[in-house]
Amino acid sequence: MRTLFLQAPSFEGFDGGAGSRYQARREIRSFWYPTWLAQPAALVENSTLIDAPPHRLKLAQIADQARDFDLAVLHTSAPSFASDVETIKALKTVNPALKAGFVGAKVAVDPAGSLKASPAIDFVARNEFDFTIKEIADGRSWSEIAGLSYRNADGVIVHNEERAILENMDLLPFVTPVYKRDLDIKNYFIGYLKHPYISVYTGRGCKSRCTFCLWPQTVGGHRYRTRSVEHVIAEIAWAKKAFPEVKEFFFDDDTFTDNLPRAEAIAKELSKLGVTWSCNAKANVPYATLKVLRDNGLRLLLVGYESGNQQILHNIKKGMRVDVARKFTKDCHALGITIHGTFIMGLPGETKETIEETIHFAPRSIRIRSRFRSPRRILAPSCSIRRCRTAGSTMRMPSSSTKTACKSRRCTIRI
Ligand code: SF4
Repeated sequence: MRTLFLQAPSFEGFDGGAGSRYQARREIRSFWYPTWLAQPAALVENSTLIDAPPHRLKLAQIADQARDFDLAVLHTSAPSFASDVETIKALKTVNPALKAGFVGAKVAVDPAGSLKASPAIDFVARNEFDFTIKEIADGRSWSEIAGLSYRNADGVIVHNEERAILENMDLLPFVTPVYKRDLDIKNYFIGYLKHPYISVYTGRGCKSRCTFCLWPQTVGGHRYRTRSVEHVIAEIAWAKKAFPEVKEFFFDDDTFTDNLPRAEAIAKELSKLGVTWSCNAKANVPYATLKVLRDNGLRLLLVGYESGNQQILHNIKKGMRVDVARKFTKDCHALGITIHGTFIMGLPGETKETIEETIHFAPRSIRIRSRFRSPRRILAPSCSIRRCRTAGSTMRMPSSSTKTACKSRRCTIRI
């Protein structure tokens, strides 16, 4: 089947960014690669991937192409779901014979509710959907496709058996040739990564069980399933040649450092390719491993600290000790590894004191960028935190704001 993989145009104020359909709105224009869609696109011959938000494509431009396809697969999310349904309707207005459905965490956790939302949705592919979509595109009878929920000829919603989780990750073809064919990599910008960058996954799943986290609980699972070192290195070697302008590769696995010996093995092979790379990590990587990674091209770690308060970390089942995170941070600084740390305010048990503890946790400076637009957002009117302004923050605060001296004595944090 002629298959369109589509990250649909988003609505005002929602860029639909990170990793395909992130669940939150952000204040800056930055985009992760649509890797989750590129993966089945790599499996389906002659498919097309359209990532509308970073390429600033409007719905009318995409609907115009609807006749060119027999099948449309859209990555959806809770905030964009209603808008994504409208996209399917627009495609079907142009091409009524089109079969169209959704993938993504939103439909994985609520396939029945998602299908009931509109008769325009023909199917949803639950959980790990790569081969579910391939079988649809290959024309297999829908009643035989594991992991598929669909509306049958009588309009009845049917849920097929679960699809077995993918164990041999090397069965997944490279995604970077799809990037090369269908995407303009200049349109992918992340503030803390070198530009242009490319991100790929070398494995799926995360061993941790952080209560707030969307990913392992839905599509990825809690076992870190990985591609072989050779498979990863072959793709990076290919991409390095195909994209000579790329300044950095990013490994977007939930926690690339969940398997330390493998991370070290990949690093040593990457060193032979002479590439700069960065990855997601948990704040518990030992010094010896950090050194191996750094010595072999690692530039930056993206680290979910979440909180500087131990009880809050317990409350969210982070599986992390504050003293371990502190030592990890010190080790990274000593080795010259840049850290982009992420924190969450308002976790269960949060108080003004625990927020202050988190703010003081960062040893040098903490630049706060809020994901939320509300009068309670955290702002700082002076020093480096002033950069919040460039992210679109308003500096006006309610008169009842609590003022707290920042430990660095360079600014005032208002909560
Ligand atoms: S370590 Fe990161 S990816 Fe893993 S469950 Fe926690 S927040 Fe999610």
